[in-house]
Amino acid sequence: MNRTLIALLGLLMLTACPDDDDDFAANDDDVADDDDAATDDDDAATDDDDVASDDDDATDDDDATDDDDATDDDDATDDDDTTSDCWQADALLDVASAPGPGGDNPDPELSGACSGDEFIVESNQIPHYTFVPLTPNALEAVDATWTVDRTPEVAAETSDIPLLGTAGFTVGGTPFFGPNEAETPDPYGDPVYNGITDGCNGHTAFAYDNHALKQVCLTPAGLVAEPWTLDDPDPDVESPVLGFALDGFAVYGPYGCVDEGCSEIVEYVSGYVQIADPSTYAWDAHEYQDSKDPEVLDECNGHVGPNGDYHYHATSTFPYILGCYRGTAQGGGPGGGGGGPGGGG
Ligand SMILES: [Zn+2]
Repeated sequence: MNRTLIALLGLLMLTACPDDDDDFAANDDDVADDDDAATDDDDAATDDDDVASDDDDATDDDDATDDDDATDDDDATDDDDTTSDCWQADALLDVASAPGPGGDNPDPELSGACSGDEFIVESNQIPHYTFVPLTPNALEAVDATWTVDRTPEVAAETSDIPLLGTAGFTVGGTPFFGPNEAETPDPYGDPVYNGITDGCNGHTAFAYDNHALKQVCLTPAGLVAEPWTLDDPDPDVESPVLGFALDGFAVYGPYGCVDEGCSEIVEYVSGYVQIADPSTYAWDAHEYQDSKDPEVLDECNGHVGPNGDYHYHATSTFPYILGCYRGTAQGGGPGGGGGGPGGGG
């Protein structure tokens, strides 16, 4: 992440000050005023629905954990010339079949495919669900291309996720950041703790981004206007893949099998303990504590699963998604990138 982008984010977060009620009110008015234009965009979404309708929702969950269906379902990439030829692409949601963010906002666009050793995703970073303005920043489509390793390997050492910017992307095509905000108004505070994320734990900065992942928002059943109103996931059912880190490792929901035969499903939890007020400097407010409990994740918020593959789990507490990269992050597209200052400390 370059300094210009950091400066821009800082500026945006300055204008996003939660204390600035006037800005929020003005933003809400703008959205209401523009509602008349909404119907045009909706027609375009309907066209894509035809392509999507033969996608069997029941099989999507399975695809996320099944390496063997490379050939059986290529609907996940529905409206361009890419070919879904790997389980990662199959895990992407058919966001064109969802209502989209509403108002006069653009519809979400998402496609992905594997090529050689790479999993390549193209997205306009628009959420598939109703946009609820929590910052003055408008919801804007920003084209991004994320290229990650299709067969990631654990690196010799962990590396920091960006302090600001994209650390990975969801199966719904939105980028996810780390568990902190910019310099202002609350320096590097936890945006979930500070209550400035929506029902799916996202908001707008220079585009829309998630700071935590909610399973109900990121499954085929969640392709509705307000997925956060759905029932919580069944804790006795293995969570699907909710996203991918820029190092290529998958991020699952919190519930996973304890062994290869899946004799029990448990909720995997963060090993970070809160030691100070996370409303500012969220990393300084938490300490990772090693645990022998197999349900406690490592400092990157992941573990080697029963099948021997490393992956992350989204957790309900800090750091929510990633604590660091266990693999080697590749660069993202605009709004992305694996560089920048680290946050792991
Ligand atoms: Zn796991």
